[in-house]
Amino acid sequence: MTLLELSGVSVHYGRIRAVHDLSLTVNEGEIVTLIGANGAGKSTTMRAISGIRPLSAGSITFAGEDITKLRADLRVVRGISQAPEGRGIFPGMTVLENLDMGAYARKDRKSLGPDLDRVFELFPRLAERKNQVGGTMSGGEQQMLAIGRALMAKPKLLLLDEPSMGLAPQFIQQIFRIITEINEQGTTVLLVEQNAQQALSRAHRAYVLETGEITRSGTGRDLLADDSIKEAYLGVG
Ligand code: ATP
Repeated sequence: MTLLELSGVSVHYGRIRAVHDLSLTVNEGEIVTLIGANGAGKSTTMRAISGIRPLSAGSITFAGEDITKLRADLRVVRGISQAPEGRGIFPGMTVLENLDMGAYARKDRKSLGPDLDRVFELFPRLAERKNQVGGTMSGGEQQMLAIGRALMAKPKLLLLDEPSMGLAPQFIQQIFRIITEINEQGTTVLLVEQNAQQALSRAHRAYVLETGEITRSGTGRDLLADDSIKEAYLGVG
């Protein structure tokens, strides 16, 4: 079943056209990844989906409903949750307080315990550091916290913007393993990445974005094996 559908989406910043006539789908249960160079429009696409940035054309459907004009906070209630680029945790709050904030849109706040347990199982480091102030954690730990906080909203669709950015190699492997685990536990994932190798090998399907337009799509495996993709995004060729 199609969970998310973007149809003919364009997004502008003033006169700058960041995304043009973009169409993509994410099916329930998938990991879909969007790869592209700096400035290709990946983050802008994520902002359009989470509702932070309005569309100048096109539409977005989520779980069968048109959400094109729906407010960002109401999209969280519907089941779209984003761990933003640059982490975006609350630096002055503890790990626990950050995780609690992630659940702000939920009506069933009394049943947070099991979800907190799930986040701590995925990220044991966060459990060890639950009373530490977020801003004093390492980059990798803050990234884990951002993903954990997004999971506390119990999303149907988790949006991850560059989860591997700035991480040491051992953390990169770990983050991608955890993303696969989150997906296997039933959460659909849309992932934006510059680390194309990891992202494509983890994704069911992928789209390539160039200067605001989708130029290629296919299974992660097919794109990984494609010579022009290798040359442009995998640093070989
Ligand atoms: P990166 O990987 O470098 O983050 P990206 O693929 O996520 O790149 P976007 O951040 O979506 O790309 O940017 C797409 C285009 O829109 C770029 O040309 C960028 O300069 C422009 N842009 C992004 N944010 C703004 C903004 N707030 N104001 C003006 N232009 C912007």
